[in-house]
Amino acid sequence: MKYFSTRGSPRELTFENAVFEGLADDGGLYIPQYIPKISDKELLEWANIKEFPTLASKLFRKFIPEDQLATAELEQIVKKSYSTFETPNDATPLAKLPKANETSEKSFSQLYVLELFHGPTFAFKDVALQLLGNLFEVFLTKHNDKLGDDEKPRRVTVVGATSGDTGGAAIYGLRVKKNIDVFILHPEGRISPVQYKQMTSVLDRNVFNISVEGTFDDCQDSVKSLLGDLDFKRKYQLGVINSINWARIMAQISYYFHSYFSLLRKLGKEITIENIKNTKVQYSVPTGNFGDILAGFYAKEIGLPIHKLIIATNENDILHRFLETGSYKKNPKAGVVQTHSPAMDILVSSNFERLIWYLAFKENASLTDLPSSFEQFDSNRKSAKTASETIAKYMKDLNSTGEFKVSSKMLEFAKSIFSSSRVSNDETRDTISKYYWTPKTKFNQIPYILDPHTAVGVLTAERELIKTKEDVYTICLSTASPGKFPEVVLAAINEPSSYSQSKDAIITFNEIAPKELIELEGKPTRCTHVPTNGKKEIAISKVRQIIESVCSDIAL
Ligand SMILES: *Cc1c(COP(=O)(O)O)cnc(C)c1O
Repeated sequence: MKYFSTRGSPRELTFENAVFEGLADDGGLYIPQYIPKISDKELLEWANIKEFPTLASKLFRKFIPEDQLATAELEQIVKKSYSTFETPNDATPLAKLPKANETSEKSFSQLYVLELFHGPTFAFKDVALQLLGNLFEVFLTKHNDKLGDDEKPRRVTVVGATSGDTGGAAIYGLRVKKNIDVFILHPEGRISPVQYKQMTSVLDRNVFNISVEGTFDDCQDSVKSLLGDLDFKRKYQLGVINSINWARIMAQISYYFHSYFSLLRKLGKEITIENIKNTKVQYSVPTGNFGDILAGFYAKEIGLPIHKLIIATNENDILHRFLETGSYKKNPKAGVVQTHSPAMDILVSSNFERLIWYLAFKENASLTDLPSSFEQFDSNRKSAKTASETIAKYMKDLNSTGEFKVSSKMLEFAKSIFSSSRVSNDETRDTISKYYWTPKTKFNQIPYILDPHTAVGVLTAERELIKTKEDVYTICLSTASPGKFPEVVLAAINEPSSYSQSKDAIITFNEIAPKELIELEGKPTRCTHVPTNGKKEIAISKVRQIIESVCSDIAL
């Protein structure tokens, strides 16, 4: 299996090279030539695997050819990647929400949360970045072991921008890794104190935090500009770790499978192919860059019988508006809206390009399904080329006019898989409050504390359950620990609301945060400050200098 760019560059890359390149030179995103489908027999086999790393290895095997990584090697990497999670064999546990005020008995019994925040930085990005760090390391080591004496070792210089969560997860995934340096830019004073501490208290030699005077977009622009300088990119072997990297999407497919099977077990259903297929399960996914939910799309295409994928957005609702109109249009108001769920504050969703490619392909190809084998891909190359041309044009339109519009057929395809909802700041706070202040009389229940991103997903799921008459279980992806966003969570719970049952019940940071986050207080930190006088060019040139000064001795 090879990977190619959504925008039609003729290059076809191995898994390894697609992971190191991240973004294609034509600006496109790498996708696999085909999406392997699993048989009923295999689905049943996978459903009987309870250990998360074992199941994940089987899945990743489908996307990484054996000549790139032997099975034993792959299993070892996967096992190592999830050994840093609280319970490695159930790295992403499924939990039941308590019955909140106003939720019906029915929706209560059918609503679950998939806790993706039990990794080292307490956000779901760990699931992918722990793996990505180990993949980088293993591929570099394999490459360098074969070198002659006078050849310089291959390295990777990771440069990434973060609005808070990605940076931490990347740093924890890459710290102390051989032949890797990591530079993370964040907008000064615009990330939460917990996130700042988490990143800058990592003092390993290969980790460089840079705080840029400006916004997240300024940081992102600096990174894009460095990646766009192809000489610089090659010289320092720049790598990307944001969610456009294929390995991150692949890693995230794993927990759709794991949670689906966990749910059947929790419901006490016997694991049979009929039960797998006849139990209706859908996912509500708090969405920003469309990485997490795109993994759900792949899971469905591989053969997990997912009923629907629900896009939950905050006020940065480009995806919600797209599903309503077929037009993908940047917010006409001034830029990104700052919300209570900052990891979803985006103007456009980068990974959406991958989905659109599939929709365009489906419209063109004579196949009813997407290619699931190399032969099917190979005999549909013409449709693939047309799809890529369509995407290239859309992206050009988006750049020049701020908008592109898909055909009604493409929108119809999208609507058959996805639905969506938009949640405001007030609704986010209300939802957190509601699930904390659950009535204690009828059910002997303990309160559940949602983080703001998860709250967006949970409210979206409730709305979806009200709309449907079908018996369908909904799994809400819980993307962060509430302890990572204490400002919003504590305000939602402590301030008077229509749900609070006590005037003086005050909970504190120490009660909602894992001990590792509490212990960050007082730790020494290291961070390079980059003043910009409000000029982007200054940020770019200073970041460039920092990278050059650290890496000059290793550049080829
Ligand atoms: C990154 C992030 C998201 C958004 O995920 P996408 O893959 O960008 O859609 C949601 N919640 C949290 C807490 C995150 O860190």
